[in-house]
Amino acid sequence: MSRVYNFSAGPSMLPENVLKQAQEEMLECRGSGMSVTEMSHRSKVFDDIIVEAESLLRELMNIPANYKVLFLQGGASTQFAMVPMNLFRKSKVADFINTGAWSKKAISESKKFGKVNVVASSEGDKFTKIPDFDSGSFTKDADFFHITTNNTIEGTVYKKIPDTGNVPLVADMSSSILSEFCDVTKYGIIYAGAQKNIAPAGLTIVIIREDLIGHAPETVPTMLNYKTHADSGSLYNTPPCYTIYIAGLVFKHIKDSGGIPAIEKINREKAALLYDYLDDSDFFKGTVDPAHRSLMNVPFILPTDELSKKFISEAAARGLVTLAGHRSVGGMRASIYNAMPIEGVKKLVEFMKDFEVKNK
Ligand SMILES: *Cc1c(COP(=O)(O)O)cnc(C)c1O
Repeated sequence: MSRVYNFSAGPSMLPENVLKQAQEEMLECRGSGMSVTEMSHRSKVFDDIIVEAESLLRELMNIPANYKVLFLQGGASTQFAMVPMNLFRKSKVADFINTGAWSKKAISESKKFGKVNVVASSEGDKFTKIPDFDSGSFTKDADFFHITTNNTIEGTVYKKIPDTGNVPLVADMSSSILSEFCDVTKYGIIYAGAQKNIAPAGLTIVIIREDLIGHAPETVPTMLNYKTHADSGSLYNTPPCYTIYIAGLVFKHIKDSGGIPAIEKINREKAALLYDYLDDSDFFKGTVDPAHRSLMNVPFILPTDELSKKFISEAAARGLVTLAGHRSVGGMRASIYNAMPIEGVKKLVEFMKDFEVKNK
């Protein structure tokens, strides 16, 4: 067996010890005589699994008691619709900051249900930064205010989140959840597809303040109403059981590794290795304003497309895979989520140095 360092933007690497535990428990989990893939979601063993996963996440993120944690399906993309369907209720206006491709999708989905104000955008700068914003321009009576905290495709992250006063702040945290400190109390809703920092695809985590639940119009489908899932402990219908099980193992792994502070420290070291090299090199170049560089997704370019192709294929031959940039940005992107070991980043930087010497 030879495992590679996988720099995919998602689905992405999982911690090796989590995969090993899953392997050990594949045929029989916790004395049940069966695999979690075969288990009723109403069984005692699965109940323990989902309750434990929630309580570990609460502990890791310090989630206050007046927030619900929901385990849903449909990806972050379904939240683009669920948020407006549930939260548009008084002014039917929402403020958005447009920081990239995922923000744009969230904006266009919200427009189907109400009025959207884009109060700041970095589109004019090709999304290479988080735009300046001024709370004076925010809609005072908006039903919610939406941001994409980490922009997976463009490689930017907020260093300071907007102060939206009484307007609930909603954050798409798909590519940065659990990567660094996050003060949950600043948010009305945090949502994230699991396939970047948490688990295989198929699970969406929603952390929602209780007062935002229960106001959806009658016409909202049952499955798209937060109340349905909040009232049933995410067991209204069959949840993505196996993915929740893996998420629980990952949460435990993070806890055993020292929690978010320890993970954040390593993530900062990993990102610094890459960014320091990019800053020093006059061959490779980072594409993002240094003030807003993501800890998770690092896009960079070479002088020509031919060199990029060569780099990506030679890197793959060395076991450094999925380094092609998003089709909208080109060049390269190294996604260095929580589960990417620092050794993987060191190997990548070593290879970049080597490539620079041979090709400059
Ligand atoms: C990956 C990603 C999405 C899309 O997630 P799905 O679970 O595939 O719907 C949305 N937003 C951000 C920031 C992402 O990184």
